[in-house]
Amino acid sequence: VADVSSEGRRRIMQSIRAKDTQPELAVRRLVRELGFHYRLHRKGLPGRPDICIARLKAVVFVHGCFWHQHAHCGTGKVPQSNRGYWLKKLRRNIERDAEARRELRRLGWKVMTIWECQVDRANVKRRLSSFLLEAEFLRKL
Ligand SMILES: [Zn+2]
Repeated sequence: VADVSSEGRRRIMQSIRAKDTQPELAVRRLVRELGFHYRLHRKGLPGRPDICIARLKAVVFVHGCFWHQHAHCGTGKVPQSNRGYWLKKLRRNIERDAEARRELRRLGWKVMTIWECQVDRANVKRRLSSFLLEAEFLRKL
């Protein structure tokens, strides 16, 4: 990544430090606590979802608010410097995400997205739980 702004560099460093991110670890822990088995980053699935519960045909994406441009979220703001570069790059991420979700749903997968800014909220476990229970219910039909 040549010639990015210092703000851009900071973002990149943040995202590198954040590999196997805290939010991902937290969501995995919740899935385990709810009693479901999962696999990580399953190859061959569109978008390589962060968490895949094959038995339920359900996947969960844990999205960083900046890289995946969480709307209405302060963290998602595009840097002012090198704005063109960032807009292009981030727009590509958004398009890729949308395409992956579309493709997964077309293949019959249930898709949930959890944003990093939501992970620590009290209701995230309940949301996750209803998503997985619904997926389980649909599997039995
Ligand atoms: Zn957010």
